[in-house]
Order: sequence, then C-alpha cells, then structure tokens
Amino acid sequence: MDIREELAYINQFARTALTEEQVYVFSVRLCDNEVDRDFERFDTAALERLGELFLGKSGIFDHQWSARGQTARIYRTEVVREAARVTTAGDGYCWLKGWAYLLRTEKNADLIAEIEGGIKKEVSVGCSVAKRVCSVCGAEEGCCQHVRGQMYGDRLCFTELREPVDAYEWSFVAVPAQREAGVVKRFGQEGGEAALLRKQAALGRKYLQELRKEVVRLAMLADDGLDGSVLGKAMDRLEEPELLELKRGYEVQAARRFPAAPQLRRKCVEERGDETVFLV
Ligand SMILES: [Zn+2]
Repeated sequence: MDIREELAYINQFARTALTEEQVYVFSVRLCDNEVDRDFERFDTAALERLGELFLGKSGIFDHQWSARGQTARIYRTEVVREAARVTTAGDGYCWLKGWAYLLRTEKNADLIAEIEGGIKKEVSVGCSVAKRVCSVCGAEEGCCQHVRGQMYGDRLCFTELREPVDAYEWSFVAVPAQREAGVVKRFGQEGGEAALLRKQAALGRKYLQELRKEVVRLAMLADDGLDGSVLGKAMDRLEEPELLELKRGYEVQAARRFPAAPQLRRKCVEERGDETVFLV
C-alpha cells in the first residue's frame, strides 16, 4: 500500500486532514494465537475482532523511551496468517498486525529515531473478553477439572480467550535485547481472575482446616488416650499429603474400633466431595 492509501486510512482518525510529510507510519505486532506463558491464547476469530476494536486506539510509550506523553494511533489492522507455522494448539499461526502513525513533530523526533533504530519492543495490549474456555473440554474456565499447563493425552490444557468486547489500551514497552520479544497482555478480567485465585486460596485454607479437624477427630476415635488440643496444634504444622496419610491410617484404626459407624462413613463421603471442589 502506498502512502496515499495509508493517508486515506489515517485521515479517518485524524482530527484534521494530514499530509504525507506530517506523519510517520510504522507497524506493531499486537497479539497472536499462540499459547503464551500464562497458558492462554486468543482464538483466530478473537484476533479478527480485536483488529476492529483497536482501530483508532491510541498507544503510549513506556518510560524507557524518550517519549514524554506522546501517543501513536492505530489506523489499520490485519490478521496475518503464517501457514508454515503451527501453534502449540495445532492450528495455523496467525497474528494481529497494527499500523500506527505518529506526527512528525520536533517533540516526536527522538522517538521516531528510536523506532527507526529498531529498538526491540513489546506491545502490551489491554482488552476484555466475554468468554474464557478450557481447550480440552470447551467448558467455561473454572467449570471443569482440567488444569492449565497440564497435558491430557497429547493435548495441552490452556485457556482460549474468545469474543473480545473491548480493547482499551496498547502500549510500547522497550525491552532489553536478550529478552524474547512477545506480547504482554493485561486484561480487564484480571481483577476477576485475582478474585478467583483468592477464592481458591480461601477454599484451600478452609479445606486444610477441615481436614486437620477431621484427622484429630479420627485420631481421638482411634485412640482415647490422645490429647485433642495437643493433637490439634501438631496438625496445624502438617500439610495436605501428611494429613491425608494420617487420615487414612486413623480411619482404618477407628473403623476397627467402631465397625458399624455410619456417621464416620458419611463424613468420609462428604470429605471426598470437598476435595473435588478444591481440586477444580
Ligand atoms: Zn476442561
């Protein structure tokens, strides 16, 4: 595309019609469909939608740049397909390319020089998506037992990000040359994710607490001679594997002493239920 065609795109977003001499045009890699370090990825349809959402959005430069409050604006996007490259998920690799422009002002001169100098940079994008689904079973994230980053047969479990609803920021992050360039994401749902982690941690603590109590209870059932409060303190120092081991042992002993103890059995079933919830 020649600069006149580019200008036609640019001028859809510029406040006043700009000329060839007034703009500096460059391209950025906004995001792709490869599974990232967090075991997440956008599906191809999401990249197409993000391409629309990023149009007209301003991006900022981080403090590593000579930029002082300068912004660049995306005026054109395109999903680039690289047929020869296959993603971890097994489909064709594609990425969202964005073209951006900066005004050729004195204030931007250093910045333009840095971009032209080929300083390695990452683009950080902020967006929100309507759907986050498990790659193994297609369930909404958090609703199945698959764990991100684990293999199920020959399939890697990751979260697929679908149906973007908003793209609210993108920024340039200058990175040291040795670090692999890539895309850093910041999601609107991060708060929700943090909340989920907190919830899981709380569930985990509750589960351990219950497990400790249950081990003490079983120990007392198995052996009348034990001091419950001393035992309780000792259990506080134990983690899940030891507790489960003790639980199994005391269960056997207690069952031997009280062969017909339906309450005990019911409790065991409930406990197993708890474990399942926690492992999700
Ligand atoms: Zn799943």
